[in-house]
Amino acid sequence: MKRARHEVTEPEDADARRTIRPVICYPVETLPRPDLSAYQAVRDGWDKVDEVLVPPREASCFHVPAGSFFRIVSIEGPQVGDLDLWSADDVNERFFSGKTRALHGTHLSTGDQLWSCLPYLRPMATITHDTLDWYGFDAFGGSVHDVIGTRCDPYTHKLLSGHEYHHCCHSNLTRALSERLGRSKEDVEPAVHDVLNVFMCTGFTRDTGQYFMKASPVRPGDYLEFFAEIDLLGALSACPGGDCSSEHSSDAAVCHPLLVEVYRPKAPPAGWISPPRNGYSRRHED
Ligand SMILES: [Zn+2]
Repeated sequence: MKRARHEVTEPEDADARRTIRPVICYPVETLPRPDLSAYQAVRDGWDKVDEVLVPPREASCFHVPAGSFFRIVSIEGPQVGDLDLWSADDVNERFFSGKTRALHGTHLSTGDQLWSCLPYLRPMATITHDTLDWYGFDAFGGSVHDVIGTRCDPYTHKLLSGHEYHHCCHSNLTRALSERLGRSKEDVEPAVHDVLNVFMCTGFTRDTGQYFMKASPVRPGDYLEFFAEIDLLGALSACPGGDCSSEHSSDAAVCHPLLVEVYRPKAPPAGWISPPRNGYSRRHED
C-alpha cells in the first residue's frame, strides 16, 4: 500500500517526473460503438416476458435472448447487486470485469458495454439506461456500478476474520448457478467470476488507494437497463452488505430484494447484428 514512508530519498527531478501528463491506456476512438439511439428506439411497445426476484442474501439466475433487454430494479430499499454474465451456450465465455474496466473506466453507465473474457472478447451486453447516471463522481472520488471490486467471498472473509459465512455473493452465485445447471457447487464454482457491482457506490481512497464503499444512492424505482448482445445466462446476488454503508460478509446489514425484468422488443434495433467472437487468429506466433 502506498503510504509515503519516506524511507527512500527522492531524486532531484522527482517533481518533473510526477508532472508528466498521463495518456489513456486504451483510447476507445477505434472501438466499434453501438448505435444507442437504435437500441433505445425499439423499447416502445416492447413486451415484458420474464421477471425474476432475487431474495436478500441470495442469488437468482435468469436468461435473456440476444436482442432482448433486461433491467435490474431496486424495489423495497437501497440494495447492491453483484452481477455475473455467461454466454447461455457456454459458461466458459464469461464477463471480463478487468478488460471492461480498462476500456470503459472504473464505473459504468449508459453506452458502456460488458465484454467477455479471452479468447472471445466481444460485447455481451450494452447499458441502455441508468437512472443513477446523475450521480457522476462525488467529492470522495466515489461513483456507482463499479468494475473495480470483485465480489464478497467467504475465502477473503475467512482470511480477515477467521469465521465462516456462507451468504457472500460468491457463495450465492455458486449456489444459484449450481441449481440452474444441475451441476454440483464444486463443479460450477470456477465459473463464478468478478462482477459488475450494480448500484454499489465505491472508489479508491486518495491517500492510500484503498478500495472503499459508501451508502448507495439507489432508491426503489431506480434501475440499470441492458441490451443483450448475445444469448445470456445471468446471475444476480443481493449482496449481504445491503446498501454497503457499513459492512458485508455478515447478516448485520439491512438487506432488500432486487428484481430482474426481461423485455422483448417487437423488432431488433435497426442495423443490429449479434457480435461474433473476436477475430484474432490465435496463432500467438514467435
Ligand atoms: Zn456481496
